[in-house]
Amino acid sequence: MARIVQKYGGTSVGDVDRIKNVANRVKVTRDAGHEVVVVVSARAGVTNELIAKAKAVCALPSEREMDQLLAIGEQETIALTAMALHGLGVPAVSYTGAQAGIFTDKVHTKAKIRTIDAKPLEKDLSAGNVIIVAGFQGIDDDGQVTTLGRGGSDLTAIALAAAIKADKCEIYTDVDGVYTADPRVVKDARKLEEISYDEMLELASLGSKVMQTRSVEFAAKYGVVFEVRSSFNQNPGTIVKQEVAYMEKVVVRGVAVDKDQAKVVVSNVADKPGTAARVFRALADANINVDMIVQNVGRGGLANLTFTVPLSEKDKAVHALAPALKDVGGEASFDEKIAKLSVVGVGMRTHSGVAAALFDALAKVGANLELISTSEIKISVVISKDKADEAARAVHAAFGLEQA
Ligand code: ADP
Ligand code: ASP
Ligand code: MG
Repeated sequence: MARIVQKYGGTSVGDVDRIKNVANRVKVTRDAGHEVVVVVSARAGVTNELIAKAKAVCALPSEREMDQLLAIGEQETIALTAMALHGLGVPAVSYTGAQAGIFTDKVHTKAKIRTIDAKPLEKDLSAGNVIIVAGFQGIDDDGQVTTLGRGGSDLTAIALAAAIKADKCEIYTDVDGVYTADPRVVKDARKLEEISYDEMLELASLGSKVMQTRSVEFAAKYGVVFEVRSSFNQNPGTIVKQEVAYMEKVVVRGVAVDKDQAKVVVSNVADKPGTAARVFRALADANINVDMIVQNVGRGGLANLTFTVPLSEKDKAVHALAPALKDVGGEASFDEKIAKLSVVGVGMRTHSGVAAALFDALAKVGANLELISTSEIKISVVISKDKADEAARAVHAAFGLEQA
């Protein structure tokens, strides 16, 4: 008997037939003699609909109320999944995040898990029940509902797997696994048998939304090996695990594109110590994730700062920057028509020439580079959004990623 955590994403529980499909799959696992904890997302589109409703009633909704609202989506699917299992004669109990003992910090809309008190859940599990846990949500010490950031059901699954010492953690989605690029954009993208935590982490944070970034971070920290698989077939998926020596032989593991970013140019700020600190402190205090920061050479006592923020945090950034710009002068402009394209691979640590090959491929499709940033195992560029898909295909081909 093994203890298995299975997470089913939004498309996998997208309607009642799909929820029944999930129940059938869970039953097969349980009938094989395993203990099963299931984590479900909201039905595909529901979280987005709820966000749109919030914005329709208030331009900058309170983040506490946002969490109250967004937690609804997963509450629908846990109950329906439990009922579908009852319909198959399988004992099952649904748990909200709070009932599952998922305690977080107080940062609404992107709370971090602090601890999990899984005792009640373990008791129900030992009694022979399948446990269905609402993904994406938790509770803070004051009993406030929190959510874990978009895609956060992945994190619920991985954190639970660590907390209950599961033997297996399976992330079921609408693709067979992790590919060398988004298979919806790059048709000849190839499924990877395995990938290291570091590479998965970079791909996720650079826009491959197949896994939530923080869930991969958590898995790496606690050594949770997991498999990304499809809920629509029985194909083997992709194993995500600690790096092993042979992984370095591949220079570029994958290409990621993030179209949900905005470029911010803060121009004509005072070119003196403390300016950047003032600007980025304001953004940090609003919990905004800033990336790809570039400052140009100052002229006439003035300088420009350029960086990217998630598109979903643009309005918050506008708001947060206003008082800072009163202090340091200058003005902010926003460009939403950009995309970030990145190549990722642990082999970059030991191979050279990746930047040149990347820039060549981008030049051939006429993509102008607006920003560039590098780390040990990735290179990212900001290009125009309407070139992004074509550029991803060109870069994928340039590195021969369709071949094993
Ligand atoms: P779920 O609702 O199951 O959590 P998501 O929509 O969050 O599913 O993630 C799955 C999607 O991620 C796929 O449909 C695919 O289009 C996209 N995706 C982006 N990059 C990749 C990649 N490198 N490999 C696989 N899927 C990817
Ligand atoms: N329902 C949430 C979202 O859409 C969490 C998830 O699907 O993982 O972001
Ligand atoms: Mg997801």
